[in-house]
Amino acid sequence: MNTVAARLAPFGTTIFTEMTRLAQRHNAVNLAQGFPDFDGPEFVKDAAIDAIRAGRSQYARMFGDPALNAALAQRWRSLTGQAIDPDTQITITSGCTEAIAATMLGVINPGERVVMFEPYYDSYRATAAMAGAEPRFVTLRPPADLRAGQVTNSPFWFDMGELERAMAGARAILVNTPHNPTGHVYSRDELERIAFLCAKHNVLAITDEVYEDLTYGHEHVRLATLPGMAERTITLSSLGKTFSLTGWKIGWAITTPELTRGVRAAHQFLTFATATPLQIGAIAAIEQGGDYISSLQVQFRQRREFLATTLASLGFGVVMPRGTYFIMADHTEVARSMGVVGDVEFCRELPARVGVAAIPPSVFYDHPENGRSLARFAFCKKQETLEEAARRLRAIASVPHA
Ligand code: GLN
Repeated sequence: MNTVAARLAPFGTTIFTEMTRLAQRHNAVNLAQGFPDFDGPEFVKDAAIDAIRAGRSQYARMFGDPALNAALAQRWRSLTGQAIDPDTQITITSGCTEAIAATMLGVINPGERVVMFEPYYDSYRATAAMAGAEPRFVTLRPPADLRAGQVTNSPFWFDMGELERAMAGARAILVNTPHNPTGHVYSRDELERIAFLCAKHNVLAITDEVYEDLTYGHEHVRLATLPGMAERTITLSSLGKTFSLTGWKIGWAITTPELTRGVRAAHQFLTFATATPLQIGAIAAIEQGGDYISSLQVQFRQRREFLATTLASLGFGVVMPRGTYFIMADHTEVARSMGVVGDVEFCRELPARVGVAAIPPSVFYDHPENGRSLARFAFCKKQETLEEAARRLRAIASVPHA
């Protein structure tokens, strides 16, 4: 009996669940699923706990607690200079993942093309399938100077011709910047090109900006701030990465009142509303989180350097990420010394043989061969966790061949 609907059957279990399970089974250091192994800020937790004690236990307003919508409108104004109406232009969702689903289901019609970059965050493709949309892929490619045993500061890149061909006839383009899993931060030039094509072909832009606060010396440009783009962009983001609260699942969609109607048409039937006390906690984070964000950036920058240099010293070819908390590394030499070929094989072997877990990125490609030589490592962990991972990874050199 087929118990999984045909439109979702091809996607199986997410790689994050699979690799975290494997990490737990082997008691491995989990550099696979991207979540911090330290807690979020106390003042945010206190605000949520106070809300629970104050009896804020019933449904929130469908599109968000009024004070959270207001806090986000204020923040948007200070970040972009754009004044928006909190009640008709912001929708609070259960994490950015729900915002992505609500946008796909509420705005895109079956058969319409949605352009996305591969490697892509896995839910893009699955939610496109739920909406009956036709995904079309543009490949982000590793820099030409990627070499085993070295860290390159050159960025991932894509072919403009490939993008242009994909955009003609598309309904929407989904842009994730800073980009998971590559760590790429789309440059102003790249985004201007995307904006130009959106206008030329009348394409909507959906942006996933959940790593917006995690960039390392590279400007995060919001597509909605480029000329003419506010009218055609749905900006999605969340609390989880910025405040180390990935389990709270507070996200949001910011767009025009017209596009908001589409997002809410789906959101009201997906989750209706998001956990009330956690929305109250989120207000504290948004309004008073500046110091926390600054100190997190300093820590993540150091951990990025540490993990990048560690991986390079072991023979990985490392692309220094410009944002996010992930490092993409070419594992070819290291995998060879372990007697394995390919990212899925490498990442399946690593927890058992070395005690470290990573993500095989080929699952994020329509053309899996483009990701076969890569592995993704998360550095959103305590320094001591990364040191333990480094200690274990150093054992690879002495691992006997299978
Ligand atoms: N966004 C996180 C990652 O990329 C985890 C997502 C998930 O577990 N679904 O690792």
